[in-house]
Amino acid sequence: MTTKKVHHMNTGNGESSYARNSYLQGTGFQRSLPVLHEAINGIASNLNGFPKCLNIADLGCPSGPNTLFFVTNIIDSVHVICSEHNIQVPQFQVFLNYLFENDFNTVFRLLPAFYTKVNKKGDECFVLVVPGSFYDRLFTNESVHLFHSSYAVHWLSQVPHGIENNKLNIYMAKTSPTNVFESYRKQLEKDFTKLLRLRSQELIHGGHMILTFPARSIADPTSEDCCVIWELLAKSLVDMVTEGMVQESKVSSFNIPYHTPHEEEVRDIIQKEGSFSLHSLIGFALNWEPYDTDKMNTDVPGIHTAKLIRAVIEPMMATHFGTAVMDMLFKKYEDRLVDHLATKKGMNYNLIISLIKH
Ligand code: SAH
Repeated sequence: MTTKKVHHMNTGNGESSYARNSYLQGTGFQRSLPVLHEAINGIASNLNGFPKCLNIADLGCPSGPNTLFFVTNIIDSVHVICSEHNIQVPQFQVFLNYLFENDFNTVFRLLPAFYTKVNKKGDECFVLVVPGSFYDRLFTNESVHLFHSSYAVHWLSQVPHGIENNKLNIYMAKTSPTNVFESYRKQLEKDFTKLLRLRSQELIHGGHMILTFPARSIADPTSEDCCVIWELLAKSLVDMVTEGMVQESKVSSFNIPYHTPHEEEVRDIIQKEGSFSLHSLIGFALNWEPYDTDKMNTDVPGIHTAKLIRAVIEPMMATHFGTAVMDMLFKKYEDRLVDHLATKKGMNYNLIISLIKH
């Protein structure tokens, strides 16, 4: 059994309507808007106005219609700040970062309509695509004013080493051996430290970085809010092993290169790395099922969550287990989620952190 290394893994990148219209990610983004506005304000006051061209980068972009949504919001924020302080609106240079294997054509096709909209308002905005991993250098020294990333930096650069004994789990789980928790923690520390160090080289002094990602509200990584969503998927795989449809060794050698840190872990890494000060940290919980409170919704709780998780994780699982078993796997997963949500509420905890480069 070997630990599977996934260097530039391609997760669901928002191609499917479920990932694209994800209420979870959409709501997380809405919550980050005031934080973004504050960061842009901070950049303007630090630079005594805006530079002639404001350089903004989004790390781990979606490739659906929402791709440029954050840019529109940033431009609107800049306008508000410029009119409040009677300063000149800058040009905008927007860098969209994707993994090499992503399909950029979807984004390119969005640009004509986006440019028409922006130009109508009298703004000048230039969009560039920056292919590569955010765990590598992507930009020239001190060239970016604002980094933004939503629901991407929790993807690790690889599966942690030394977790071959995680057996029939696919992430940290209640039944995981203790070394598994430590290996995930170490990989998070290594990757997050690298992310901070690289971006600090690319940011101007006083530049900001806003990151939104799933996290744990409780320090204990075996707490339900952290792992149950993946434990149910692991159990669905084990069902398929029992039925002879998936080899046990395939399950044992699969672990997700993903981490949901507790805020203390995040604070600790930021402090140790030392390039940034943590300006703000906001934690918030969201329902797995978006329409829990919508009386018109006729979906049984669990169906939406199964579709959303499938959109996120299927590309990686299909590579390991084969596409032929995906429909069956996610049907079993849906059944398990429906059962689970019949008696419990599924909550997902998230963090938005705003960092300023010293
Ligand atoms: N930011 C979008 C998309 C989230 S899906 C949104 O909020 O909707 C996560 C994205 O991060 C995927 O597109 C995946 O390809 C990308 N990603 C994961 N690891 C990455 C890495 N190391 N470098 C760049 N992008 C990465």
